Amino acid sequence: QRPVAHASAESVLAAVSARAITDVHTGHLDYDAYREAGGYQLLRACTEWRFDPESVIVTLMASGLRGLGGAGFPVGRKWRIVRNEPGPRLMAVNIDEGEPGTFKDRHYLERDPHRFLEGALVAAWAVGIETIYLYLRDEYHGLRAMLETELDRLRADPPVPDMPEIVLRRGAGAYICGEESAMIESIEGKRGMPRLRPPYLAQVGLFGRPTLEHNMETLHWVRDIVERGAEWFTNRGRHGRKGLRSFSVSGRVREPGLKLAPAGITMQELLNEYCGGMQDGHTFYAYLPGGASGGILPASMADVPLDFDTLQRHGCFIGSAAVVVLSDRDTARAAALNTLRFFRDESCGQCTPCRAGTAKAVALMERATWDAALLAELSQVMRDASICGLGQAAPNPFDCVVKYFPHELEGS
Ligand code: SF4
Repeated sequence: QRPVAHASAESVLAAVSARAITDVHTGHLDYDAYREAGGYQLLRACTEWRFDPESVIVTLMASGLRGLGGAGFPVGRKWRIVRNEPGPRLMAVNIDEGEPGTFKDRHYLERDPHRFLEGALVAAWAVGIETIYLYLRDEYHGLRAMLETELDRLRADPPVPDMPEIVLRRGAGAYICGEESAMIESIEGKRGMPRLRPPYLAQVGLFGRPTLEHNMETLHWVRDIVERGAEWFTNRGRHGRKGLRSFSVSGRVREPGLKLAPAGITMQELLNEYCGGMQDGHTFYAYLPGGASGGILPASMADVPLDFDTLQRHGCFIGSAAVVVLSDRDTARAAALNTLRFFRDESCGQCTPCRAGTAKAVALMERATWDAALLAELSQVMRDASICGLGQAAPNPFDCVVKYFPHELEGS
């Protein structure tokens, strides 16, 4: 059954929010419904030069839209950088979504797949992209079938002439393939291992060509921002931040699920206003603001705005905005050990600080007594010498336990 056609990404989200809680989803806005609701008109306007690429880039820069996969690089700036590189240029859309606790891309893809495709095509027009590669998490079997069908419809009845080729690639089933350069390797048919940078993907990316790399959700917002203007987005933040964030909330809350909330909202506000508070019998104790790698903060720090830069000052980061809420029945120490076991298993193994460091950290954390000085030394080496973000961020959970939860280590 087709959902009611709505014009904006937000209204589609609202229409299906009841189902979002359980994530049992059955329908999506298909190609015809999306076009009936005004879809692909922005792309037509672009290709008919009713806009010029620079004005679209300026709008995106004014909106403050940043990469929503985790790194948070300003979108307009990225488009401009790649556009200034010599052609042919390529594009890679990251829908690998492997960060534990993250389900935002799946959520939007299940409901409104053409919105990000239109965003990708507008980006391709503005930047001058020849081919778009979509890299879809292999575990999303149903979504792959749906996306193949919708891409066939789009190709059979293109909304504009001379559309760039869109290639759908299956992910390789590894967490590390969500790292942008490992994803590029995987698309090229190689083992998914991160590259040393520089050179950056904007200069030497897919098949050696300048490449625009984006998380799927980032492109999901392009149409609304360009059609409604930068202020529509900037006005939505809270505590001085701009824009909207799609929080994937899980853990001990009464109403988990995807929460579209103002950027800069605090954990306490998110919990009270969007998640119905804690589950019965649970007291808020701690939270992971950014999935496995974003660190762990105590409930006493629930008034920190959840946004890119603020959390970094506390040794954490928002990443893909996967918020996991812990209660008095959990410990930060156990959560940290769990995440380190995950990193140990998912390390690609090409550099020693991460391959050996994650295994060493697990061994140290499994001991009854933590050697905080040795863990601190290990953390520094991993941060300084790992090739990619996995090894660099893997110490966040145990560093946070030492810093914010010393009572859990007392007498251990
Ligand atoms: Fe691989 Fe870890 Fe090195 Fe990244 S930091 S390249 S995941 S071994």
